[in-house]
Amino acid sequence: MDIPRIFNITESAHRIHNPITAEKLATLGAALRLESGTRVLDLGSGSGEMLCTWARDYGIIGTGIDMSQLFSEQAKRRAVELGVAEQVKFIHDDATGYVSDEKVDVAACVGATWIGGEVAGTIELLARSLRTGGLILIGEPYWRQLPPTEEVAKGCLAGSISDFLMLPELLVSFGRLGYDVVEMVLADQDGWDRYEAAKWLTMRRWLEANPNDELAKEVRAQLTSEPERYAAYTREYLGWGVFALMPR
Ligand code: SAH
Repeated sequence: MDIPRIFNITESAHRIHNPITAEKLATLGAALRLESGTRVLDLGSGSGEMLCTWARDYGIIGTGIDMSQLFSEQAKRRAVELGVAEQVKFIHDDATGYVSDEKVDVAACVGATWIGGEVAGTIELLARSLRTGGLILIGEPYWRQLPPTEEVAKGCLAGSISDFLMLPELLVSFGRLGYDVVEMVLADQDGWDRYEAAKWLTMRRWLEANPNDELAKEVRAQLTSEPERYAAYTREYLGWGVFALMPR
């Protein structure tokens, strides 16, 4: 079981597979007033940077589940590297329908909301693992500027304009689902650069090491077209944030 191989290639050198930076992850941990011993569940935990650094900096105890074998291995290595292997556990699995045996204080899905079939379903799924009074974290894109045409939305790799909301509407939508938004940390364009531009050097080096790979043509095409596409569309139109929610 794994995610499509192209992501394991283009994001192999990423510690964070989202436009949030290490600094902003720390800001988020501080904003949530995490205490030592806080139990955190993370669906789609990627290479584990959020859980590992929060374990180091705030003493949390965490479980992450991710479908990428490579990212899950990287997460385990990162936990050892940061000296928190006793505090965090990473499971290589499909997180669809995952509910923890023990209730957690923080239930997160940061940039992988398709796991629950979009935002509403993911919130519902996370709520099943959450103790009363706990926090749900959702990482999700929104439109920084509304795309003037469907073509621009597609340039952002969205299926259509209706895939995402503007920030005020996204915040209202959490209310409609019965949740208060109690904190948020938003990515910025520099953070998008760290996520997107970091793929280019990875792709270039991968191509040099794997010229005859079956994906070499696809990676070559992406490396050629991505800088312009990203600068013209995603960087201008797409916002991204992590939203902390509590049921009303
Ligand atoms: N939250 C992490 C990773 C976000 S990228 C971070 O911010 O760094 C999305 C992640 O979801 C990837 O790591 C991918 O492997 C994982 N993923 C995709 N589908 C999944 C599924 N069905 N179950 C578990 N993880 C999944």
